[in-house]
Amino acid sequence: MNSKYIKIRKVNDLKRLGKIDVWVPAIGIGTWGIGGYSYPDYSLDSYYIEVLRYGISLGMWLVDTAEYYGGGHTEELVGEAIKVFPREEVLIVTKVWGTHLRYDDVLKAARNSLRRLNISYIDLYLVHWPNPSIPLRETMKAMEKLWYEGLARFIGVSNFSLIELKEARSYLNKTDIVVNQVKYSLLDRRVEKDLLPYMEKEGILLMAYTPLEKGVLAKDPRLAEIGKKYGKTAAQVALNWLIYKENVMVIPKAANKKHLEENAGAMGWRLAREDYEYISRLFS
Ligand code: NAP
Repeated sequence: MNSKYIKIRKVNDLKRLGKIDVWVPAIGIGTWGIGGYSYPDYSLDSYYIEVLRYGISLGMWLVDTAEYYGGGHTEELVGEAIKVFPREEVLIVTKVWGTHLRYDDVLKAARNSLRRLNISYIDLYLVHWPNPSIPLRETMKAMEKLWYEGLARFIGVSNFSLIELKEARSYLNKTDIVVNQVKYSLLDRRVEKDLLPYMEKEGILLMAYTPLEKGVLAKDPRLAEIGKKYGKTAAQVALNWLIYKENVMVIPKAANKKHLEENAGAMGWRLAREDYEYISRLFS
């Protein structure tokens, strides 16, 4: 039996990756700050490895990282953490930094990420930020090459506006962008204007980063009050409000096991439509 099938039954809250028949959990794990921010920090390595393993085992088997995080060390920690799982049971997302977007630099960055992650393919490879000083055509051609060679199963972008997303797609011949990872939370709903509707129409998954606004939403008394009805916390309501939309998934970062449990508990149920709409108005 296909192992993903077992996961589907186990998590029961999945999002479609682009238009293809590949599904990912509605909630994954963010890793910014795990193993350092812009520079490596080795002091908590064994703790972070255990935390990541714990989060994955709770059903958040998509891990978001980047070559930039911890100066590369975050990828090393993710690589170490996933060793205990069958490779096909975790979905690794990593990103090429904005200064590495020339054709050869993209290929080199991907190879370096593969080495640090200690894997033979990246599940989803993203362009971290657009860089107007490097032709996007060149970047996307390199991304497509990585896909063609099987080094990246799927490709996508991050922090791309609607215009940039359309342009990026226009340079791809054989594959398409399956994800745009952008900032989206109850306190930052800019994507709803034009990006989200376009992505919905085109079947591109929106991977929402900073979905808890760095923990601020977890302290919101209004969300806590609504959550009581469901036996859920403010953080769980904030995440559930995001994944209510069919093509939105979230990647909260948590280095605290209690937070991981709480975030995993935001999956597998949905707010009632009237509560969803009430919260939408409350934070409009
Ligand atoms: P976030 O997920 O909104 O917030 C993380 C903060 O919230 C941490 O301090 C965490 O604390 C806390 N937290 C997590 N779960 C909680 C809970 N249930 N209750 C209370 N507090 C909780 O912000 P983020 O880290 O900026 O975004 C998430 C991920 O998105 C990043 O880690 C990264 O992978 C990705 N990202 C991507 C980009 C991009 O340009 N593509 C930009 C920013 C972020 P503890 O760590 O102590 O548990």
